[in-house]
Amino acid sequence: MKFSFRSMWDYKCPRCRKGDLYKAPFELSNPLNMNEKCPECGLDFMPEPGFYFGALIISYAISSWMLLLPTLLLVLKYDWSVNQAMIFSILLAGLTYFRLLRGSRSLYLHLMVRYDKSSRDSVNSASKYDQTFFK
Ligand SMILES: [Zn+2]
Repeated sequence: MKFSFRSMWDYKCPRCRKGDLYKAPFELSNPLNMNEKCPECGLDFMPEPGFYFGALIISYAISSWMLLLPTLLLVLKYDWSVNQAMIFSILLAGLTYFRLLRGSRSLYLHLMVRYDKSSRDSVNSASKYDQTFFK
């Protein structure tokens, strides 16, 4: 299987699915504190400057739909006032902020790197990104 939702959800390395992407499971002061390399297989989690720009777009797309649809539903179907719906939307954004921020990076890395059973202690080179989810 190429893509593992479980591995992405648990913030595991996409190549070996064992090493952790982040140094601490819940670090509010620095939520994007990632390991530089996978502690298990040595995959470089920062392959190039600006690599996670794509994760920003994923995060934006998910959060905008995740906030817009319930807010519209509350206002149009359940007759909430716009102010009430905005408070709900802000609370929902606050509750999902951490998960969405980390999850979008994890999803982006999982889309770019394919699972490789034999990756343990392999040489860390650019060739690891040759075969991605899209190929
Ligand atoms: Zn790994």
